[in-house]
Parts: sequence; structure tokens; C-alpha cells
Amino acid sequence: MEQFYAESEKLLQFIAQSPTSFHVIKNVEEQLKSGGFLALEEHQAWNLERGKSYYVTRNSSSLIAFQIPEQSYQGFQLISSHTDSPCFKVKELPELDADKKYTKLNVEKYGGMLMAPWFDRPLSVAGRVMVWAGDRIRQVLVNIDRDLLMIPNLAIHMNRKVNEGYAYNAQVDLCPVFGDETAKDSFLKLIAEEAGVDKKQIYGMDLFLYNRQRGTFWGAGNEFIASPRLDDLQCLYGSLQGFLEADAPQNISVLCAFDNEETGSVSRQGAGSTFLVDTLSRMNEALGGSGEDYRRLLAGSFMISADNAHAVHPNHQEMADPANRPQMNHGIVIKYNADQKYTTDAVSTAVFRRLCEYADVPYQTYANRSDMAGGSTLGNISNTQASLRCVDIGLAQLAMHSPYEMAGAKDVLYLKQVSKTFYESRIGISHEGIKIETREQESAFMDKKQNT
Ligand code: ZN
Repeated sequence: MEQFYAESEKLLQFIAQSPTSFHVIKNVEEQLKSGGFLALEEHQAWNLERGKSYYVTRNSSSLIAFQIPEQSYQGFQLISSHTDSPCFKVKELPELDADKKYTKLNVEKYGGMLMAPWFDRPLSVAGRVMVWAGDRIRQVLVNIDRDLLMIPNLAIHMNRKVNEGYAYNAQVDLCPVFGDETAKDSFLKLIAEEAGVDKKQIYGMDLFLYNRQRGTFWGAGNEFIASPRLDDLQCLYGSLQGFLEADAPQNISVLCAFDNEETGSVSRQGAGSTFLVDTLSRMNEALGGSGEDYRRLLAGSFMISADNAHAVHPNHQEMADPANRPQMNHGIVIKYNADQKYTTDAVSTAVFRRLCEYADVPYQTYANRSDMAGGSTLGNISNTQASLRCVDIGLAQLAMHSPYEMAGAKDVLYLKQVSKTFYESRIGISHEGIKIETREQESAFMDKKQNT
């Protein structure tokens, strides 16, 4: 278990340092830079070289990184995940008065969250502000790194039927208390201080509430983890580690981290935007490829859409499909849906199962109950922009979209391992079939199969 714990511990640290999508991207960029990746800007010309690695960001909240092999390549091999999680966004004119004795923050919902667990726990604010810096507007990331806010529950005495179900009203029930009456007019001052500027210099803000509780290991054998934002930072972190450790990719390796999945991916930087197709086509052009080359590359490409999956709930086992019942710590979950909310089909699942076997990583399957609608995720949405063979996968978790979610302590290492194997392999698709070349692993694997 040692290596499993070590990887999960690093995941929990990564999440603790990443309270918003902007911080996620900053931290991913740091890891890429120390791995030798070069930063590209969308508004500048790209001069790309074989054998080098690059990344580009959009809105500071989405990122695409790629490694170009030395030798010839036949496609892109991508893993996508998302940087955002459901939370509350601070509105313009953020302060509200209550009874002239409290100062509250005016917030609105971002994405579809479980509201109840946001109550009665220390929260704070993080995000970005745009500040006037004398000659231009600059972006500054902020994080008030202390227990700053609470959303108090109404006492049971005043809400006797709350345990029979309560319809939360985001405007009435969810405004966090920021201070007493002396806190009036101080919120933006606090943010400005954190940004190292004067309040008057702030011209714009994207600020979000986040849960202050740190990630932890729990369970009789410490077999589980709990943390904010496991959906989907567990997948982003695991695929990033596999991407960074992969040796000598044989196709163009691509890692995508998209913002705004929780609100439907339709934004300038979401999986439904042109960010992916812009980046892939520019990559092809900068490497001297024609329009036909680009379409051939897409036809030879393979994407893994990685977003967390529901484990069977211990108190609501009836909510899971009778046969496809994912468990935490039992490996990568492959997700299926006949309506193609998940992109997995016979072809892509076959490829992914082989990859798991090469990586010696367990896998399991997920489908919704046939009488329940599930959510959709990145794969089918980004396919409307760049059509790629795709499999939808995730890691099993509980309490999805709570500000404190639960998952298995082993699974992030499994994802790292299969991601590494994926990026080191060349998946060749032709009318004769699909070949997965895994750099000497193919023959070693065949030997192992024959010997067992
Ligand atoms: Zn997700």
C-alpha cells in the first residue's frame, strides 16, 4: 500500500493548493515547466519542434499540454479531465447587511452542488481579480488562506421538519456570514490587500467559496480518502502524473484540462469550445501538416475522457445498476450509456481494456440504472468540435458534488499507471483492426499470457 498512499497524499496536497480552476492551472503549469514543457500563447505564432513539449492555456482556467515525438506519428492520444467543481460564486456588490449586525456575502450557485454540506463549516474565498497596474490591467490570483466564512444552519427548533427534506433557496439560505457590523465595506479591501493592491485598483473579479477542510485518509485500514474537489482533480492529477512520467511517446501525447464542465462546457474555454480543435489544428499546421494530414491525424486519434464515477452507495445500494457496480479501490471505471452521454463503445472499450491489462491495472464497469438519467461529461461534448474515438472512464467515488467527497486511496495510482502506458503506446487504427504497440510490452505481455 505504501506507493498507493504516497500518490494519494500528493493528490491531497495538490487539491489543498488548488481551491479554484485558476489555481489548478497555475499548479499544473508549474509541474509542466519543471518537466521541461515550454509555454505557448494563443495570440502568438507557434514554432514547434519535434521531440519537444509545450502547453497553452485559455482564460487561465483551461490548459492543453502536448509532447511531439521525434519520429513520425499517426494521431493524437489525449486524456481529458476538468478543473472546476460545483461551488458558490461571489456576486458583484458582494456585501449584504443582516439585522444591521452581520455582514454577509451575496453569492450564487456555480454548477449543481449538494447544498446541505456547505453549512456549518469553515469556508473561504479564492479566485482572481483584475487590477489596474498603472499602464495595463493585470490578473492576480488570490486565496484568503484562513477560516473566513460560515453558512449557519437554522436551528432544528425553528425548522422542525428539516430532517424530512428541505428545499434550500440559494438566495435566502446560502449567503455566508463574513463578519459582524464592523466588517461592512471591508470585503473588497481584504481581497485587495491579498492581491497587494488598493481596492480602487480592482476592476473585475471571479471569486468563489471553497471548503477549508483538508483532505484526509479514513476507514479501518485507511483505505479511503476524503477531500474537496475529487471530482475531477483526482482524474486530472492522475492523468497528469502519467503524462509527465511517460517515456518517448510514439504519437502526439495530449493532456487536456477543461474548465466549466459543471455548467455544461459551453464557454470560451470549456470542452464544448474551439480550444481543443484550435490547438490540434495549429499543432498540425506548425509541424508542416496539410488539411488532409490533419483529418488523417484525427482519424488515427484516441481520447480518454476521464471524469469521476459513482461507486455503489453503502446506504443506497438500490441506486446502482444491478450488474455494473463500481467500488472504490477496485480500479478504473469504464462508463457506458446507450444514448452516448458516455462515448464508450465496443471499439474504445476494447482498446482501453487492453491498455489496463498492459499496465496491470484493474478495471470495472458503470452504467446508470435503466430508469435513471445520468449526467454527461467531456467526451461527447468535445466530440462535437473534434470528432475522436473516445472512451469515458473515471475513478469510483461517493458524495459527488458535495464540498467534501470520498474516494479510494488506491485508485489515483491506477490511473497514473494506465495513463503512462497509454501515452507510451501507439494506437494504430486501420480497416484491418487496431494495433496497440507498447514499446516491448507487447511481446512481454504475450509471453506472460502464454505462461499463465
Ligand atoms: Zn466531473
